[in-house]
Amino acid sequence: MPTRLIVSAPATGKTNASIDDIRAILEKYPLAKIRVIVPDRLQAAYFRRRLSASGGSIGVYVGTFNDLYKNILEKSGGYVPIASNALLHRIVQDVVDTTPLIHYAPLRTQPGFILALKDAFAELKRALIYPEAFVESSRGTSLAQQELALLYAAYQTKLRGMGWADFEGLSWLAVAALEESPDLMEDSMKLLVMDGFDSFIETQRRIMQLLERTTNLLITLPGDVASSRTAHRRFSRTLSTLQKDIALNLQEASTPPFLPAEIAHVEKNLFEPIPTFIIKPDHTFLKELRSPSEEARETLRWIKALIIREHIPLQECAIFAPNLDQYQPHLRSAAHEFGLPVHFTLGNSLTTSPAITALIQLLNLPTQNFRTNALFKVLRSPYFSFGLPLEIIDSLEKVSHLGMVVEGREQWNEIWERLSLSGTSGSFDLDDERILKNLPHGKDIQALQSHLDNFFQLITPPEGVRSQTEWTRWLEDLLTNLQFHENSTGEQDEIALEGFREALRALVMSESIVGARIVDYQQYLSDLQNTLAGSALAEPSALGASILVGNIREARGLRFKAVAILGLSEGLFPSVERPDPFLPESLREELGLDSRLEREQGSLFYQAVTRADTHLLLTRPYLSEDGEAWEPSPYWNAVASLFEENTVLQKIRPDDPRPLADAASSHELLFWAVRRKGLPHTYAELETRWKQLQHARDVIHARRAKRADGSNEGQIHDLQVDLAKRFAPEKIWSASRLETYGTCPQMFYVKTVLDLEATAPPSLGLDIAQVGSILHKVLEEVYRTADNPGDVNSVLKRLPETAKSVFATAPQDFGFRPSELWELEQDQYLAMLETTIVALADTSEGWTPMAYEQAFGIHDTPPLEIELDGEKVLLRGLIDRIDQDADGNLRVVDYKTGSSHLSKEDLIHGRRLQLPLYALAAKEALKLGEPIEGMYWKIRAAEAGSLKLSIFKSDAGEGIEGAVQTAKEHLIRILKGIRTGDFPPVPPKGGCPEYCPAAQWCWRYQKAGW
Ligand code: SF4
Repeated sequence: MPTRLIVSAPATGKTNASIDDIRAILEKYPLAKIRVIVPDRLQAAYFRRRLSASGGSIGVYVGTFNDLYKNILEKSGGYVPIASNALLHRIVQDVVDTTPLIHYAPLRTQPGFILALKDAFAELKRALIYPEAFVESSRGTSLAQQELALLYAAYQTKLRGMGWADFEGLSWLAVAALEESPDLMEDSMKLLVMDGFDSFIETQRRIMQLLERTTNLLITLPGDVASSRTAHRRFSRTLSTLQKDIALNLQEASTPPFLPAEIAHVEKNLFEPIPTFIIKPDHTFLKELRSPSEEARETLRWIKALIIREHIPLQECAIFAPNLDQYQPHLRSAAHEFGLPVHFTLGNSLTTSPAITALIQLLNLPTQNFRTNALFKVLRSPYFSFGLPLEIIDSLEKVSHLGMVVEGREQWNEIWERLSLSGTSGSFDLDDERILKNLPHGKDIQALQSHLDNFFQLITPPEGVRSQTEWTRWLEDLLTNLQFHENSTGEQDEIALEGFREALRALVMSESIVGARIVDYQQYLSDLQNTLAGSALAEPSALGASILVGNIREARGLRFKAVAILGLSEGLFPSVERPDPFLPESLREELGLDSRLEREQGSLFYQAVTRADTHLLLTRPYLSEDGEAWEPSPYWNAVASLFEENTVLQKIRPDDPRPLADAASSHELLFWAVRRKGLPHTYAELETRWKQLQHARDVIHARRAKRADGSNEGQIHDLQVDLAKRFAPEKIWSASRLETYGTCPQMFYVKTVLDLEATAPPSLGLDIAQVGSILHKVLEEVYRTADNPGDVNSVLKRLPETAKSVFATAPQDFGFRPSELWELEQDQYLAMLETTIVALADTSEGWTPMAYEQAFGIHDTPPLEIELDGEKVLLRGLIDRIDQDADGNLRVVDYKTGSSHLSKEDLIHGRRLQLPLYALAAKEALKLGEPIEGMYWKIRAAEAGSLKLSIFKSDAGEGIEGAVQTAKEHLIRILKGIRTGDFPPVPPKGGCPEYCPAAQWCWRYQKAGW
């Protein structure tokens, strides 16, 4: 009997007409069986709802084509089990392993290759391309095509041999069953309706062809018979293929679309080269927002307003986006803030779940040689119980930083060995270039080592190869030990765990069906990850009604009162289409497969915009992530061109003032009120939060002010008493610590008052303090042991041996793990030292080195005492070198590895105080004589810094006295500032030093080379 085909524009009642037909049959034959086929489960639920609303759905089965295939096979007695994703993955893997390949050989071990092949096989099957025919037609073609055909044939043979089918195979079997028994489904259904489709694939058309003789078929299709409209191109193509395959009785609905004027206008004229006329809409419904995040907020705000003001039910609202992955987090977070329940049609991949991410991180640790960063993420993960107290983990992390442990048990063993040899080393903040960190030692080390060794033992997999089942057993034991299941609480975790268990079951089951797969740990892990990546994380079941959020492809066939479509900017929608590397366009054409480059996204858009019964909103982002203008999609332009200029489009900038009544959450309302600088009395219940926001505003104002001032900018006078006690006169200061305040008071506060330290991820090689310490030590020893330190040749003669001995023990002495470059670095340091010694000798005429590493205020040495404002200030330090001239006068030399901030201005501004204070210490604390000169020596640059005490000049005076006086004035200022709690953040000239611990969060941070 001819199949009835209803073709008409969207929203003209095609689904209603099908339901009327169903109702009419049921009235006549109350026990009749009727089947409705729709594209997916979403539409099945929608059709059922419509059916129930029209008077009940008893006797009507609504499902997808797959349900129909199963029904046919059950009837024929030929039903075969469907292989799970994991099993199919395993079968394709086996086929790839056992098929001789040349062209695809390099891809054999790539996990993406298996997934791509699975997709290609599925597409070939959907197009009813049988493996034998494909192998035959591939003879004499490219090697790639021949190998693809061989793989496809081997896959199908294996699947059949096992007595299983894949999803696409189900349709083949159904086709075969009907071909064998054409009357199989006679009297099984009074009516078979196919609703909501805009195209049919080969197997679906073949099934219809086989059923049409015995079954009453009704198909609905959007569009227009004989239409040449671009918007209808996809439907027209579908119609002409159907006409070739099936005898059709065409019925064109004459009802006009039941759409509001604007949407009906879009439906009628979209993509027409010359629209008949343009209209003025009632309101704007094309909204341009700054970013996808703003689009998500605006859309949900619009829906919330419709729900509250127009009483539109939640389930009558839908949001569609072309790339849901990008919009999902924004929509989820805005919906949560606005208190709107949403249901996403597509779950994320299982691997995006925090519990599974943590698990994969744990299992990857052994294969990544226990990379330190990942190791500590795992140790601190709430999903595992390792029995390690937090303090132990903190200590281990500290050791990893100090010992530069980048990865691997060997590096940990090295650091344990090194630390057990090192003694107690208290660190003094003597010099910003030589502050070495305190390493733990002794018994503490043993305890830490044993904790970490236990952890390594616990998670290290057994060596060698095993079956997947054995590996899975090992993994389950490990997770039981770590209480992974008990620690994974929360609805999302439980859903993820269920998916995880399912993946493990599939791995084990695939072995019992296909045979044991003997693999090493790395391969097992890769198989497990691929299986998890292919599994979706189901959405938690929504309690009650919710707003539907789906991909734009899912919009077809559904109707809602309010529909929003997001992402109408260039590149997002229509998306950029790329040819398929496995099934290239030429082969597609030959096999009759759909082109990858002509997916008719225009028809998809046409369907999506006509889904709304009363309200439609289109949005697009107008700025890209890098701040560039983002062009609109051609589809956006096509809609805009149908309306009078400036009537349909609205650009909403984040700073635009908005009526408070439009705010979708109290959070948003307060945010807008701050912008308006006032909260009306009607919102009295938000008064407390309003005050908090005002405070926040004051803080932001203070932070934006040119000059850091006030209690929000480092002035903490409330702590005066405590600070005065903590930094009382009896405290011994180092010049370096005082210079920190002189450089930036806030940096001093963070480093010294809060005792915070900047840490960098462990890396191989030396840090700046270690380089400084090594070079200082070589210089000290080479001059001290030279036969004549005043003779450059004598010093140079000692240099190689001295340097060699310092370099030999440097890793232990200064706590670093030498990189592969260490040998090379030693040569470079040696050359650098040679150059610097020669240059230093050139600037030392008349001076002879007389003392090295002269400590004051350290251990038993007396501190420098300076009388200031009636207070005795105590200082300590270590003078690198003191030279003497023929008259017994002294020159103080301070070595610096770096070259910056060694000028007169740095002393004048209080950033460098060391040199005059050291000169004073040489005279007064060490009583070595009268200093008449002082200079910094740049080791790397082999030259003196521009600050020379003998020629110094400032408002405080000239020469060495002037320099000392300048330093004293800074001491008074600095000590007063510290004790009164004055710590404003003031970025030093030239930018903030990278070792400032506040650099990560400081609002006044200025990047620069220090
Ligand atoms: S980042 Fe700059 S301004 Fe901020 S505390 Fe550090 S040095 Fe001062």
